[in-house]
Amino acid sequence: MTTLAPLDVLCAANKDFLCRPIGMLIDGAMVAAQSGKTFAVFDPGSGREIAQVAEGDAADIDLAVKAARRAFQDKTWSGMKAHARERLMHRLADLIEAHADELAELESLDQGKPVAMARHLDVAGSVDYLRYMAGWPSKLEGSTIPVSVPYMPNRFFAYTMREAVGVIGCIVPWNFPLMMAVWKVAPALATGCTVVLKPAEQTPLTALRFGQLVMEAGFPAGVVNVVPGFGGTAGAALAAHPDVDKVTFTGSTEVGRHIVHAATGNLKKVTLELGGKSPVVICEDADLDIAIGGAAMAIFFNQGQVCTAGSRLLVHKSMFDKVIEGVSAIASSFKLGHGLDPETQLGPLVSKEQIDRVSGYVKCGLADGARATAGGQVVDRAGYFMQPTVLVDTSPGMKVVQEEIFGPVVVAMPFSHMDEVAAIANNTEFGLGASIWTRDLNKMHALAPAIKAGTVWVNCHSIVDPAMPFGGFKQSGWGREHGKAGIELYTETKSVCLML
Ligand code: NAP
Ligand code: MG
Repeated sequence: MTTLAPLDVLCAANKDFLCRPIGMLIDGAMVAAQSGKTFAVFDPGSGREIAQVAEGDAADIDLAVKAARRAFQDKTWSGMKAHARERLMHRLADLIEAHADELAELESLDQGKPVAMARHLDVAGSVDYLRYMAGWPSKLEGSTIPVSVPYMPNRFFAYTMREAVGVIGCIVPWNFPLMMAVWKVAPALATGCTVVLKPAEQTPLTALRFGQLVMEAGFPAGVVNVVPGFGGTAGAALAAHPDVDKVTFTGSTEVGRHIVHAATGNLKKVTLELGGKSPVVICEDADLDIAIGGAAMAIFFNQGQVCTAGSRLLVHKSMFDKVIEGVSAIASSFKLGHGLDPETQLGPLVSKEQIDRVSGYVKCGLADGARATAGGQVVDRAGYFMQPTVLVDTSPGMKVVQEEIFGPVVVAMPFSHMDEVAAIANNTEFGLGASIWTRDLNKMHALAPAIKAGTVWVNCHSIVDPAMPFGGFKQSGWGREHGKAGIELYTETKSVCLML
C-alpha cells in the first residue's frame, strides 16, 4: 500500500482551480447556481474534501437548455462552415493536449485512478476522440434515392440530407469522467448540435475544466453548457426537459430506465450505454502466458469500474486451477495507493457508497457459498480501497454472477465443452462485451456470432476506438457510440423529393 499524496503536490493551475467554489458553464460564462448552493467534491484516495462546486438543479438546467436552444437556432454553430467547425474542434483538442498533465492530475485526484493512466488513457483518449470526430463535419453525406412511383414513372428525383438533431442532453458517469463527457460532446459538436452536459456528482471537476477550455478555444456561447449537480434533480430535469431533442446517457441500467420514462414527455431521442457483466472465455488451446494477465487486467483495470469489465471468467476445466492461481496471484500483487503516488498500480474505488456496494456484493457471494482465492476485504485505511477479489465455487443463479458489481471482483466458473459456452456467456440480462482467448480461428469464428454482445474481443479485452461502434445488446443499451454508427444518431435523416 502506497502512502497518501498531499494536496500540496498539485500543480499551480489545479491549486488555483480548486481554491474557490467552481461555477457552472452556462451561455459562455462560469456562473453560480440560481439557488446559490454548492456541493462538496472528495478525493477518494483520502476521503478529504477537495472542492466546492455549484449545485445545479432544474432552474439551472432550464437556463442551460435555453442557451443551447438559442445557440442552435441562431445557426452560429450548425451553420458555420464545416471546415471552421473542424478547426475549432481541433483547437479544443490542442488545448486539452496543452493542459494534459494538469487534467490528468485533476482526474486522478477526483476519481482516484493512477495519474499515469489518467494521462495516457483518459486524457490522451479524449484528445484522439475529439480529433476523430473533428473529421466528420465535412463528411456528413446524404444519398440519392431512386424513386419509381407506379402511376408517374421517371417524374421524381429524391435525395436525403443529414441534419443536426438539435439540443442534446449528455448525462455521464464517474468512471472515466473526462472521456465519457468527450464521447458525448464531440459527436454532438461534429454534427452541429448544441449540448448541456451533466457530469456525475462524484467527479465534476474535469468536465468543468473542459468547459473552460471550450470557451478558451473560441466556441460560440451556449454551444456547450456544463451543469454539475445530482442525478435526481439536475439529471432528471435534463432528461425530462421539453426543449431537449435527445438525451445521450451512460450509466447504470437502473437509471437508464428512469431516463427512458423521463423522455416520454416530448418523445426525445434516447441513446443508452448501460451496465454489463462481460464474460472472459479462456478456451482449452489459449496461450495462458497472455490469457492469465489479460483476464486479470480485464477485471482489475480502473478497479473494475469499467462498463465492459471482464467480470465473469469462464475457463475450460482442464486449466481452471492454473488460471485461477495465476489471476489470484496478480490480484494479490497489485500495489494499491493514492492515484497521485507514482508507485500506485490500483487506486481507490470512487466513493464511500461504491465501496459499501462492492463489499456488500462480496459478502453476499461468500454467504451464498462462493470462496475467495484472492482479496475479499475492504482495506483498513483512509480512502475507499478494496482488495482485488477472485471468487470461485460460484453457481449461475448467485447475485454476484448475475448482477453488475462495478468493482474489482471477478466470479470464475469452469466449463467442459465449447458447445455450452455461448449459453453460459449469454445467461445474464446484459450484452455489452465479451472476450475469447484462443489460438483456434475456427473456435473463435464459431463463438463470436453466438455471444450476444455489442463487442467481442479476441485475445484482448476492453479495447475501444473512436472509429469502432460501441454499445450494448439486451439491457446494456440502445444505439451505438463511435464511428459512423454513432455520428448518425446525432442526426435526423431528411428525404427531399422533387417532381421533375
Ligand atoms: P448512474 O448512477 O446510473 O449515474 C450515471 C449518471 O446519471 C450520473 O451523472 C448520475 O448523476 C445520473 N443520474 C442518476 N439518477 C438520475 C436520474 N433519475 N435522472 C437522470 N440522471 C440521473 O451510474 P454510475 O454509478 O455513475 O456509473 C456506473 C454505471 O455506468 C455502471 O452501471 C456502468 O456499467 C455504467 N457505464 C456504462 C458504460 C457504457 O458505455 N455502456 C460506460 C461507463 C459506465 P449523479 O452521479 O449526480 O447522481
Ligand atoms: Mg471525487
